[in-house]
Amino acid sequence: MEAMTTPVALTERETLQRYEKRGALLRGHFRLTSGLHSDIYLQSALVLQHPEDAAALGESLAATFRGDRVHTVLAPAIGGILVAHEVARALGVRALFTERENGEMRLRRGFTLSPGERCLVVEDVITTGGSTREVVQCVEAHGGLVVGVGSLIDRSGGTATFSVKRVALATLSAATYAPESCPLCKTGSIAVKPGSRA
Ligand SMILES: [Zn+2]
Repeated sequence: MEAMTTPVALTERETLQRYEKRGALLRGHFRLTSGLHSDIYLQSALVLQHPEDAAALGESLAATFRGDRVHTVLAPAIGGILVAHEVARALGVRALFTERENGEMRLRRGFTLSPGERCLVVEDVITTGGSTREVVQCVEAHGGLVVGVGSLIDRSGGTATFSVKRVALATLSAATYAPESCPLCKTGSIAVKPGSRA
């Protein structure tokens, strides 16, 4: 099964296994940067730091949009940049990224879109879909046409919805809690901050 030479789209299980192998997906009791507690910790940078994994994940996401005549792939900086790059490489198109400037998602650095340009918006992880929606609005403000939205992981459990074709390689239901109402804390467990070493 491992001997195939052509890229094969990763299944949901294989996607999560790649994350787990690199410590990019942990299950337990975590204190997130936001201060909330969660039963799942996701840090895509830990899997994307390995070009082989980044390429495999990007190719798999790209494969699901091969029939959509995508001209350009866009992602919000910083987390989405490598995903856009690998998806675009697999599709043979450009990869752009948007950046927040004065709170607004913008195309900077001389990036432009042509009227009607068919765009695919990608992310590493979709949580609420908020930043993805901001990139969609940015594309539309530049006259582009968003033909799809893709992410490596959907941690909303599938509740973040979009009006265009939407694909995630894997879906997780990650619960987040305010510390004072965290059921994991109530069991006596202590939330850990991933990445910090005792
Ligand atoms: Zn807790």
